[in-house]
Amino acid sequence: MTSVTGRPAPARHAGAGTEGWPAPGARGASRAPGPARSAPPPVPATSRRQGPGRFSANSVLAVIGLGALAVIILWWHSTPDVSGLGGWLTGAGEILGLLAGYGVVILVALMARLPPLERGVGTDRLARWHAMGGRYIVSLVVAHGLLILWGYAVEAHTSVVSETGVLLTEYPDVLMATVAGFLLLGVGIVSMRAARRRVRYETWYYLHLYTYLAIALAFSHQFAVGASFVNSLAARFWWSAMYLIVAAFVLWYRLVVPVLAFYRHGFKVIGVKPEGPGVTSVYIGGAHLEELAAEPGQFFRWRFLTRSLWWSSHPYSLSAAPGKGVLRITVKDLGDHSEAIAGLRPGTRVMAEGPFGAFTSRGSERGVLLLAGGVGITPLRAMFSSLPGPVTLIYRASSERDIVFREELDSIAAARGATVHYLVGSRAQLGGDPLSPRMLRSLVPGLQRHHVYVCGPAGMTSTAVEALQAAGVPKRHIHFESFEL
Ligand SMILES: Cc1cc2nc3c(=O)[nH]c(=O)nc-3n(C[C@H](O)[C@H](O)[C@H](O)COP(=O)(O)OP(=O)(O)OC[C@H]3O[C@@H](n4cnc5c(N)ncnc54)[C@H](O)[C@@H]3O)c2cc1C
Repeated sequence: MTSVTGRPAPARHAGAGTEGWPAPGARGASRAPGPARSAPPPVPATSRRQGPGRFSANSVLAVIGLGALAVIILWWHSTPDVSGLGGWLTGAGEILGLLAGYGVVILVALMARLPPLERGVGTDRLARWHAMGGRYIVSLVVAHGLLILWGYAVEAHTSVVSETGVLLTEYPDVLMATVAGFLLLGVGIVSMRAARRRVRYETWYYLHLYTYLAIALAFSHQFAVGASFVNSLAARFWWSAMYLIVAAFVLWYRLVVPVLAFYRHGFKVIGVKPEGPGVTSVYIGGAHLEELAAEPGQFFRWRFLTRSLWWSSHPYSLSAAPGKGVLRITVKDLGDHSEAIAGLRPGTRVMAEGPFGAFTSRGSERGVLLLAGGVGITPLRAMFSSLPGPVTLIYRASSERDIVFREELDSIAAARGATVHYLVGSRAQLGGDPLSPRMLRSLVPGLQRHHVYVCGPAGMTSTAVEALQAAGVPKRHIHFESFEL
């Protein structure tokens, strides 16, 4: 095991290159925009998940729950009485249909890239809610269809098959909704973990867009045959408003804002620098970057406008605190897109959507531990140079050559009097788990009082989170970012 400790040094300003802006030798780095050089001021706050313009996870869940309650009240209000088996089946089908119609809007809203959600709840958590909610919605849609058919059949004293024939041939809105239901089911199946592993990310992503078509196809049947809407103009108005507002958010934040940002900031690649085997830093220049209010720990979705890359945007974290007129990302080649990054030329225009993510911190007087694994070092590298207060960095890598930014990290550690521990090698080579509670406690005195930020491969992250809890760090002090959405 190699464990290198950046020795506390007299406080001084971070040295040239500490912030990682184009160094001599960075391909195409014709100018080196000045980094923020001064040492971080002492700010005695901790997580930035809360604050003005940020919705907390609990408040978002409470609003979603209240909305679901309002949907049930809507059904109650529009249903004078329920009797007989057919009535109960139809009533249950209606409630599930209303909840599905509401839930699908919530799922889209979670992915609309609304800044207060992105910054307050965090993109990875929103993606997890979206995936979990998607499974419930598909189940609701299927159950809604089956219960309504059964209920109608019982009430009409006919078979489910003949009732299905009637609904599909005599009610065009129901036919469209049925197509929508199958589309949603298909998207749900492709999104199941086992299926998703076999499908390319881009294939899954573009298939996922059929959800929008499904929502559009299913919309009209709610008003045409939905008992809660047929006789209520107010219900139709509010329901439509909910769909329209979310559609406007999607259009605005996913399409208009990135285009406006492209023209406002004029993002361009200004330098590309190899950092190690398969790892490349890209420096992106732009105007008025301070307006973005990007913070260390956040990420952007980057669309490089070259012939082969323009059609997809990929998330990469800032690997240095935003500088004057320049942002830096550092990418490990793990597939088509990340591999092509090393071939980018200075001058390439870029569309950048963001900043996103709630993996940010203001530091803590009691100390912050940054725990990185592999390429998960990128957001933590940006935080390491900018967080106020005492900071320790633990960097887990499988081999020496996998360590990136070593010089920068040592230089930051020396400049701010922080400590870096490099834990290098396999568990077998290290004679055990280097992230065990005992080891973590010995590396970080007073660990249980720290706020901890973890970023690395999924396996390492979950092991580390468990070990930190076992070492006495309260759950609410452990923050982690996943590189898988
Ligand atoms: C919030 C966040 C921050 C990240 N920061 C960094 C970073 O700083 N440095 C770094 O090297 N990597 C980072 N990643 C991972 C990086 O986005 C993927 O490695 C990259 O997109 C892989 O694309 P590919 O075509 O090269 O590989 P592929 O083989 O196509 O994909 C590999 C995996 O990457 C993910 N992925 C692929 N395309 C996308 C996409 N468009 N959007 C979201 N996920 C996708 C999927 O999980 C996929 O299974 C980050 C990911 C996230 C979610």
